[in-house]
Amino acid sequence: MFESLKNLLKHFSGNQNTETAQPVTSNQEIKSATPESNIHELKTMGSQYNTLAKFNLGLGSIGPANRTDIDPQRLNEMYQAIASGKYNVPVKGAVPEICVDGRTDKDGKRLEAPSAAGGTLSVVYGGDLAGAFATDGVNELQLTSQVINTLKSKGHGTGVHGDDHSSCGCGACAKAKTIYQHITERINDIASLVSQYGINLDDTDKQIIVQQANNRLNQADFFADDRATVLNVAQQNGAIFEELVGAHNELGIALNTKPGTTVDRSAIRKDFGDKYDMFVVDAWAFGNAAKDINTIGTEETAQRIAKAITLQNVATASILGHGSLQIVPIA
Ligand SMILES: [Zn+2]
Repeated sequence: MFESLKNLLKHFSGNQNTETAQPVTSNQEIKSATPESNIHELKTMGSQYNTLAKFNLGLGSIGPANRTDIDPQRLNEMYQAIASGKYNVPVKGAVPEICVDGRTDKDGKRLEAPSAAGGTLSVVYGGDLAGAFATDGVNELQLTSQVINTLKSKGHGTGVHGDDHSSCGCGACAKAKTIYQHITERINDIASLVSQYGINLDDTDKQIIVQQANNRLNQADFFADDRATVLNVAQQNGAIFEELVGAHNELGIALNTKPGTTVDRSAIRKDFGDKYDMFVVDAWAFGNAAKDINTIGTEETAQRIAKAITLQNVATASILGHGSLQIVPIA
């Protein structure tokens, strides 16, 4: 149903610009909305998109079911406008640099760069979960430094973010340990979700990723107790820092597979108001990052890193987000 993401992951070593995106014929894929509902208004309107709840995911609070300030019809209009590619804008970078976070800085802006959960930290955690790095004695801070320097040496930008009211305002970073735990507990649910978008994890993939997550959870001091130190180490190694402001108002997950683009959060707010935000996942960039941090060198490992980055993004959405978040593909 959604071949382009699969193809991007399969063929990322080729010229990404030659990928032919398949149009989404979402009317053929009408799904019923999550049954747990004070979003039944959405349901009666015929929700077109998968929710996290459909896969038993979405333990967090961010999502439309927890909002009283949203017009369901406007929400559907926003989803459809985003799916049409209306808000896609070009980026210079080719690997994840900024966070999926839907918020902006105090000037209402974001860097125009590829997005993944935690920005560059998504590459750190995805690479780690795929077993791409040394397994013993190395901690999260050392891996953060290593990955940033590897990406920089290949000419890529790197970035992390905080916000204006927390010591570690990035959920992907603040809850990294919980996200690893979630992957060990819910690997089949997460794999089921990503399979809907053409990414298939075989038993070996699942086993390696869950084993690696468990190794880190059991490794004393792998995760820094003070989460802000991860952001500090990233910046000391050259990562750009964005300070985002305000509360989380994300109402869905934009799953963007158009190479060379991201979704313009400011433009969405301009059309729908500042209570209408989206998480933005630029999945087309995952394979590029996987290739460039793959120290083992095999195609199989690169594939597994790209898959693990995808899992880290889904698991982050599931920990922070509510089951009512809908996944809106842009192909
Ligand atoms: Zn973040």
